[in-house]
Order: sequence, then structure tokens, then C-alpha cells
Amino acid sequence: MGCRNFGAMKVRVRFAPSPTGGLHLGGVRTVLYNYLFAKKHGGTFILRIEDTDRNRFVEGAEEYIFSCLEWCGLIPDESTIAGGNYGPYRQSERKPLYLEYAQKLLDSGHAYYAFDTTEELEAMREHYKANGYPNPQYDHNTRMKMRNSLTLTKPEVQKLLDDQTPYVVRIKMDPNVLLTITDMIRGEVTFDCALVDDKVLLKADGMPTYHLAVVVDDYLMEITHAFRGEEWLPSAPVHILLWEYLGWKHQMPQWAHLPLILKPDGNGKLSKRDGERLGFPVFAMNWTDPRTGEAARGFRELGFIPAAFTNMLAMLGWNDGTGKEIFTTEELCERFSIERVHKGGAKFDYEKAKWFNNQYIQQMDADKLFELVKPFVVAKFPNAEDTLLRRVIALVKDRCTLLTDFWEQGHFFFTTPEVTELQAIREKWSPAKAAFFAAWAEACHKNDYPDAHQMEADFAALAATHQLKKGELMLPLRIMLVGGKFGPGVFHISELIGGYETSVRIRAVLELLS
Ligand code: GLU
Repeated sequence: MGCRNFGAMKVRVRFAPSPTGGLHLGGVRTVLYNYLFAKKHGGTFILRIEDTDRNRFVEGAEEYIFSCLEWCGLIPDESTIAGGNYGPYRQSERKPLYLEYAQKLLDSGHAYYAFDTTEELEAMREHYKANGYPNPQYDHNTRMKMRNSLTLTKPEVQKLLDDQTPYVVRIKMDPNVLLTITDMIRGEVTFDCALVDDKVLLKADGMPTYHLAVVVDDYLMEITHAFRGEEWLPSAPVHILLWEYLGWKHQMPQWAHLPLILKPDGNGKLSKRDGERLGFPVFAMNWTDPRTGEAARGFRELGFIPAAFTNMLAMLGWNDGTGKEIFTTEELCERFSIERVHKGGAKFDYEKAKWFNNQYIQQMDADKLFELVKPFVVAKFPNAEDTLLRRVIALVKDRCTLLTDFWEQGHFFFTTPEVTELQAIREKWSPAKAAFFAAWAEACHKNDYPDAHQMEADFAALAATHQLKKGELMLPLRIMLVGGKFGPGVFHISELIGGYETSVRIRAVLELLS
């Protein structure tokens, strides 16, 4: 099949979501590959809302999609929000256009009216199944036995139309055609049109199906490259024939069908249920389905950094061949090539996703990290003070993988922790230790130690006067200050919360132990 010569043409790509739910990993990866391709070629990235299936329409899904893209930093150049010269960008607002092209297909004989009722369609299926065809469909084998404008006379058809009998418009697939396209990822793919059914193009409600709308809009919006999920590959022959039948073959975009994102074990497509079962999100952001009230967790709320999330997604099915894994978005824009996307599905590995986030946290500039961590901490503790938070971030950062970890690892700097590991102190407790800690609390109460080293030296010296080893006192001290057996260097903690607060926490635990 001929493709446009893109030499002199400006690249225009689109992401075309249906507002039917939350945006999952596969959807965001499609956005990302479109975005990277557009940026690399100085092109335009368009977002088109495909909302012609009113049964699957979900309130709020469109807004949610835009918020996700904003969080990811993948902002479309043209969309319902950004505007542009090719609007409207919402298919439900383009209805007259589709009617016009459906009529063109009817007039040229490439499409036909079908008046079959649900019962008639069901009867056809039953009949064929009973006669040795396990998967009957509305196609060249069956169409001539159905109630449509191919089998009825012109006056009969006109009468049905005049009587406002419900109908759909179907494409008339040519069973004698073998179609070959060059997919940018898969190479040459050939389809036998005899195996493809006469898809509905226009529904009884006058709305186009995806098949008609996608071709009309890709044409009118001058899309040069169409990247979409591989689940659409079987529909490609319908779309290619429509490009041809509408006389636009020379303008057909180049196709790339993106591989699936697979479950961690590689066994089938990753689904929301896998995420719930295995404890990881598959949605970019938290999403509550307004129809069911069902909530799903998102990467944003779990504490992923947008750039780490998109970096991880870029690598799900693509690499630059050098083994490099960490790329800034700018680097990705430069290096990305759709031809290097793998044909096979990409396994999603949540541990690897967290590894990316950890790499970003460890390498990030302190101010940037502060901006990202702050909302997570403020959500837990609204009065968190900036200077203290900056110091906490520096202290606990190497223990953090997700942005939410900063609160887990650092909450005791802001609030008195609950002591969950008292038993661990109790097991090796002694009157000598009790006396030592009472004395140490006293010392801390009086002296606001200026630095951790001085404090540690004094602590060791005091231990010696009590005939105790510093080593056996460190764990009790840690538990007294943070509540459990975790956290950064204990004297750094003490330095940051201050001598007074140190003494208060030690005394509170001594009380519990006595
Ligand atoms: N509306 C389709 C979907 O949500 C878009 C497929 C395409 O990009 O052509 O999957």
C-alpha cells in the first residue's frame, strides 16, 4: 500500500483515547511514544477524544486523561484544551463529517445499509453454527442472506429509510483482496480481506464507529504516523480499505502497532486485576470509576516521580541499543526511534519500576527533590517546616525509593513517634542501662549539642563511666528516638530533633520501662 512521502511534510501524530476509564500503563506509553516521535521530528502531537461509543462513556474520564498527561509532562500541542486548526478534537462534535463520508461510501458501493434486527442477527449466527461454521460473522459468506441494501431492491430500501427503520451502515469488504502494509515495528504485514467481517461504520444512533471515525479524522487532521496498541492490528485491513475507498490512499499515515504490556510472568496482557492481585498500580493516577465507585491506585499517589515513571515506560519495549537505562526526557526525544520498539510484548516488572524511581531520587538535585517530597510530607503534617524538611530529606534520602517513603523514614523528625519496638529494649534491659539513660537525658536536656560528633563522643564517655559499652546502648537509643529499628545515624537524628526533644523522648520510654 502506498504511504505518503514525509520528506517535506511536517510530522503529525495523535493519541486518541476513548474516555472510558482511567489511563493505564499501556495508554501512557502510547502517549509517550507519540510525544517522543513528534518532538524528535519537530512535529505536532495531537490529542483527540474518541467518544463516539456513548454506552462506554464515563463521566470525568476526559478530564482525568488531561490531568494524567499534565502530571507526566506530556502536553499535547493540539487538543480540546489547547485548540488548534483541525478541531473540533472531540469526535462527538464531528458527527456531520462522518455522515458525509458514510454517504460517500454508500454512493460508491463500498458500504451498504443493513436493517437486520438483533433477533435476525442472532438467528443467522445460530443457523451457521448449526451448519458447521463455529464463528459465523457478517461477511461475504453471509451478507447476501441478510436484510440489507445488497439484497433488497432500491424501492424497498427507500421505503425502509422513509419509514425510519433503524439501520447501520456496513463496509463491504472485498474478499478477493490481500492487503500488505509496512508497519514501522513489524515490517510487512499481510491481511486476507476474505477473513474480515463487514464492520459497522455508522451505528443506528447516527454515530460513527471507531473504524470510520479514526480514518476520517486521521485524514482530516493530516496525521502522518498512527501509533496504537497491537489489539488494533486485526482492524487494520478495514481501515486501509477505507483509506482507499475514500480516495485518500496516497495520504495514509504510516502505521506502528505497539506491543502489549504483559504481566510480570509474561503470561498475557497486564490488567487492572493483576495490579490489584500483585499489589502494584497500573494506572498513572488514582482513579475511581464513577459507575462502580471502585477505586484503583495510581503511580502518582504511590510516590513515583513523573520523569522516572515516563523513563520506565519508555524502556518497556524500547532501548537505544547501548544498555543505557536512565534517560532524561530530552535525551529520550533525541534517541527515540519507533523502529527500535520490539515486536514482542514487554513484561512489566514493578520492582524495576521502583528501581527507576530510586535512581531518580538518588541523583536528583536537592531543590527539585524538596519540591517533589514536600506535598507528600505536608499531606501528613501540614506544619512541616521547610528548613527542617530539607535536612530530613538529605538524611533519609538514601533509604527512599518512593516519595511516600520520605514520611515513613522521617516522620519522627516532625512528630513524637509511637514506640513499636519496646520489647526489643526490654529484652536486654538492666538497672545500669536505666541509670545511664537517665543521666544521658539529663545531659541532653541541659546541652543543646551543636553537632552529632560531639554528642557521640560525650555519649561514649558517659557510657564508660557507667561501665557500659556504647554498642549495647545504640539500639535502645534509636528505638527511644524513632520508635523502631530504622532510620539514619542515631546521633544525626538526635542533632536534628535537638537535645531537649531527645531528653523528652528518652524519659518517656524510661517511664514505659519502669
Ligand atoms: N480510541 C482508540 C482506543 O482507545 C484509539 C485507537 C487508535 O489510536 O487508533 O484504543
